[in-house]
Amino acid sequence: MDKILAVNSGSSSLKFKLFEMPSEKVLAAGLTERIAIEGSLTTIKYGDGQVYRSKEPISNHAVAVEKMMKLLLDLHIINDYQEITGVGHRVVAGGEYFAKSALVTERVIEKIKKITELAPLHNPANLVGIKVFKQLLPEACSVVVFDTAFHQTMPEKNFLYSIPYEWYEKLGVRRYGAHGTSHRYVALEAAKLMQRPLKELKLVTCHLGAGSSLCAIKEGHSYDTSMGFTPLTGITMATRSGDVDVSLIAFLMNKLHINSIDQMIYALNTKSGLLGISGLSSDMRDILEVAHTNHRAQLAIDIFVKDIVKYIGQYYFEMGGLDGIVFTAGIGENSSVIRQKVMDELAFMGVKADKTANEDLKGSRIISQATSKMTIMCIPTNEELMIARDVMTLKKKNLKSK
Ligand code: ADP
Repeated sequence: MDKILAVNSGSSSLKFKLFEMPSEKVLAAGLTERIAIEGSLTTIKYGDGQVYRSKEPISNHAVAVEKMMKLLLDLHIINDYQEITGVGHRVVAGGEYFAKSALVTERVIEKIKKITELAPLHNPANLVGIKVFKQLLPEACSVVVFDTAFHQTMPEKNFLYSIPYEWYEKLGVRRYGAHGTSHRYVALEAAKLMQRPLKELKLVTCHLGAGSSLCAIKEGHSYDTSMGFTPLTGITMATRSGDVDVSLIAFLMNKLHINSIDQMIYALNTKSGLLGISGLSSDMRDILEVAHTNHRAQLAIDIFVKDIVKYIGQYYFEMGGLDGIVFTAGIGENSSVIRQKVMDELAFMGVKADKTANEDLKGSRIISQATSKMTIMCIPTNEELMIARDVMTLKKKNLKSK
């Protein structure tokens, strides 16, 4: 039996889940928010519904990790650090270096540093997390799991932009995608629900959260995805614009007297999407609540649904068919209304929704009727579990090679 930590160090947060493997039982889940910001908050859920909360200031990531680890002992979740035999770290950008998760070595760290430009807020925080855990748990198997790795199987025709090829060769400008661990996890679960080998399936997985992306999965591999060089593109998101004509940037900077390109990109990242269209909120729950009397809220929903349908259509043609569609993440898992709207739009293709399964049931399930031409599923994502599984796989391989 192993105890494996799945760690997600964000720019101002530290999240973890501790799993008992191979049973995949969650022993504890923790979150430190507002690191280095006033009002730091640490929460740990463990045991049978116990919750620990503290509001002590946390000055940096190293302090957050040390505090979390000490709490695991103090709350008797573990008796000794050595019980933790593996740590998996989520890393946002893996560039073209990483098509799979990897054991942490000096060379791996160097490569992650080299591609910091692709995720300037996230990769440095990830690196601090890796270093501090290595100091505290020197014996544990340390693994990095990349958001972009799953998409490295995309063919050139799908990851290249139609710009000078040298820009790709010299600068690495291409579509990298995101949410890869989530797309990979729900695809595996979808194959189980459909009781068919993943290798035989053509799927579109819709990760619909505050950030949203769709992925075309052919024979178990990412074939195309809606996010691009950065997570700004693709479908309309909570505050991100998704796809826009890039010429808008020069036009808007001129008209709105925006002097810096960073400020312009910032507006596309934070003031656009559902928030920009509705003028009300970035939260789909708020928008759904008022949509029946508010034109712009309704419009935000219509654009969001249209974007999802547009990409599903694109991937249907790119893959030459489609066996299943998966909804996951905050909106995908929780909003039966959005799922129903997408299924209604696809009725002409033979999609038949199962209203009871869509509205009344919870957890991983099929939400289309048996006679539906495509199987539509709602599957809660579990990136942390995927990370813990990768740690176990690499740990075993590492032992064998010794
Ligand atoms: P993140 O991208 O931050 O990981 P999540 O996957 O947690 O995001 O999704 C957060 C989003 O999920 C929120 O913006 C919220 O609007 C949406 N959401 C959560 N519950 C519901 C619900 N019941 N109906 C509609 N949207 C929901």
